[in-house]
Amino acid sequence: MSLPEPLEKLVALFEKFPGIGEKSARRMAFFVLHQSQTYAQELAAALVDLRSRLAPCSACGNMTDTDPCSLCRDSMRDRKTLCVVETAEDLISIEQAGIYFGLYFVLGGRVSPLDGEELSVERLDALLSRVKSLSAEEVIVATNPRVEGDLTYYSVLDALKDFEGKITRLSYGLPVGGSIGFADRVTLHAALESRREASKNGNPQKGR
Ligand SMILES: [Zn+2]
Repeated sequence: MSLPEPLEKLVALFEKFPGIGEKSARRMAFFVLHQSQTYAQELAAALVDLRSRLAPCSACGNMTDTDPCSLCRDSMRDRKTLCVVETAEDLISIEQAGIYFGLYFVLGGRVSPLDGEELSVERLDALLSRVKSLSAEEVIVATNPRVEGDLTYYSVLDALKDFEGKITRLSYGLPVGGSIGFADRVTLHAALESRREASKNGNPQKGR
């Protein structure tokens, strides 16, 4: 049986969401159908606003409704440290963890030969200019712990080959609360590689 056309259309649109299959899309569409007219109007307006009011920050690439974004404008942040991430979503995850107080740079992509993805030359040039204009002292490359993240990391390293400051990469390890018995070989290998040296007074020190 085919659905009424407006329902069919919404289901098809919801199905494009990451991780949403046909059944979930149908549930979402029926959910909207059962809400008030105001809810549907707010939802539609929020979708239009999202695309019309947000744009990448010209300095860091974060999605923002002001340019430069609030992070780039914040004078309390450490402007000598730049954290390079693949996407604006990664930026938000790090920011919400409340553990980092420097600035960011969003690559807006990654290197993945299998998917035919490369970092754009313009974006890598923009990274280099950003590093120079800030006179950054450290660039933290926070690419994802997988093959594409490794390739992206090397691409960033290459783009910053003339940078004289420190370049670091997030270390990988066992997830907190996880167990060695359940960790896969790659995770165990990475955890072993990024081990830290124990100091005599019990405080961990950087191992490598
Ligand atoms: Zn910004």
